[in-house]
Amino acid sequence: MMATTHALWGMALALPVLATAPEFAPVAFVAGFLGGLAPDLDLYTGHRKTLHYPIYGPIVVVPAVAVALLAPSAATVGLAVGLAAAALHAATDAAGGGLELRPWEAGSERAVYSHYHGRWLRPRRWVRYDGALEDLGLAGLAGGVLVAAGADPAAALAVALVAVSAVYTLFRKPLAALAEHLAGLAPPPVVPYLPERYREA
Ligand SMILES: [Zn+2]
Repeated sequence: MMATTHALWGMALALPVLATAPEFAPVAFVAGFLGGLAPDLDLYTGHRKTLHYPIYGPIVVVPAVAVALLAPSAATVGLAVGLAAAALHAATDAAGGGLELRPWEAGSERAVYSHYHGRWLRPRRWVRYDGALEDLGLAGLAGGVLVAAGADPAAALAVALVAVSAVYTLFRKPLAALAEHLAGLAPPPVVPYLPERYREA
């Protein structure tokens, strides 16, 4: 799924906080946004493995939420929402396409690495690839809920993220071709630093 979809769903996880303890909503929205994006910081070093924990992530969320409920503070609520957003990101990566330059070709059997199983989980392709129409639909759904909740500035950010998602969806396939072309132009000393799927291409 798109980074924007992950960010939007991470922010949507802050909505229960807005409903029950609105004083912590700002930190929860920020934590959900950052937690939703954070796993993909491993883009250049073991993508969908180093910072993706599709099984351990949700397990860690349970005590984090318990602590936030028992001792609510900006720190405990932020940590719980941030961890939940990162766990949701990793788990839902398995629902999307594989780790490849053109995931719509469905040639990869690697969706996300499970440290628990010690192997790659296969892509379910319920969302065919990042930037597919159904991906945009999921981004729009989370964005719509955030706007309906009316929690500015989170709602304004949600609108902007949905707009970016729409543009990305429109240009997803030409962007892949452009990225491949640019990777082909990279001087040899740079090549080892490109993501693996570009080196393969
Ligand atoms: Zn990811």
